[in-house]
Amino acid sequence: MNIIDLHCDVLDKLTRLENANFRNDARLSASLEKLIAGNVKVQVFAIFVHADLPENEKFLAAVRQIEAFHTKVLCEPEMVHITEWTQLNELEEGQIGAILSLEGCDCIGEDLQKLEHILNAGVKLVGLTWNHENGVAFGASEDPLKGLKPFAKEVVQLLNERDIIVDVSHLNEQGFFDLLPLAKKLIASHSNARAICDHSRNLTDTQIKELVKHGGRMHVVFYPPFIENGKEHTSIGYLVKHVEHIASLVGIQNIGFGSDFDGMDYSIEKLANAGEYENFIRALLKTFTYEEVSMMAHRGFNRFVNNKNLARE
Ligand SMILES: [Zn+2]
Repeated sequence: MNIIDLHCDVLDKLTRLENANFRNDARLSASLEKLIAGNVKVQVFAIFVHADLPENEKFLAAVRQIEAFHTKVLCEPEMVHITEWTQLNELEEGQIGAILSLEGCDCIGEDLQKLEHILNAGVKLVGLTWNHENGVAFGASEDPLKGLKPFAKEVVQLLNERDIIVDVSHLNEQGFFDLLPLAKKLIASHSNARAICDHSRNLTDTQIKELVKHGGRMHVVFYPPFIENGKEHTSIGYLVKHVEHIASLVGIQNIGFGSDFDGMDYSIEKLANAGEYENFIRALLKTFTYEEVSMMAHRGFNRFVNNKNLARE
C-alpha cells in the first residue's frame, strides 16, 4: 500500500553526518532504499534548525538543508520534487514524491523576506515553532497560555497567500487556538492524542476536534514518548490505540502518518525505520478495512490538498 509520510528529519542528518548518502546509508531511517522497501510514495522532508545554534547562523543552516535536499535527495533519479499538489497524481511507477517543509520559524527571526526566500525553494508546509519561543510563537514545551506573537499575523498571511499548509505540531495550546481562525490550511504533521498519552506535544480531544472543524488533519507520529506515557520503547499496537481514538473523534478520513524518522532517539518495535512501514499497515488492517487504511495511508491527504470534498464520500 502506498504511503504518504508528512515528516522526517533526514535533511538534518544528511547535513551533519560525515559522507552521508541518501540512497542507502545504513545510519538513515528514511534512506531512499528504506522508503522504497516501505512503499513510501511521498515523503515530506523537514528543514529543521537546531535551537542551540547562534541566532545569526540559523538562516544559513536552513539554506544548507535546502541545498542538501537538492544535492543529496533530488539528485536521485527516483525522486520528484512536488511543488504543485496535482503532481501527487502524476507520479509514475518507481517514482517517489519529495516535499519540503519548514519545522519552526526560528531561522527567519522577524524577517519576512527570509521566510519568502525559504518558501521560494518550494516549501509546502510550515510550522511556526519547534519546542521553544521564537519571533512568531511559543513552543509546546512552554507556557500553554501564551498566544501567538504579533509577527505571526504577517507570517500566516504570507503562508495563506502562497497556499502553504500551516503545521500545528510543536505549537503550544494558546498559539494553536489563536492560529485556527487565521490559517487557511491546517495540519498536525506529527502529533498524537493526549487522551492516550499525556504529553505536551500531543493534542487534546478538543484540539483535535477543533483542528478538523477548521478543515485540518491529524497525522500520527512514531516517537515512543508521544505514544505510551514515559516509555522510550513501545509497540505498534499502542500506536494503533491513538489511531482508533482519533478516528472515534474525527473519522478515518482526517488521519494520516508523519513518522518523524531520523528525528528520534528511540523507536517503536518492528517500526524502527521507513522500510518497516508494512508492519504498521498490517496491524491497522486487523482493526480497519483496506479502504479505511488506504484512506489514512495516502488517499485522505491527497484529497485534502487537492480540495476534494471528503464529506460527500
Ligand atoms: Zn518535530
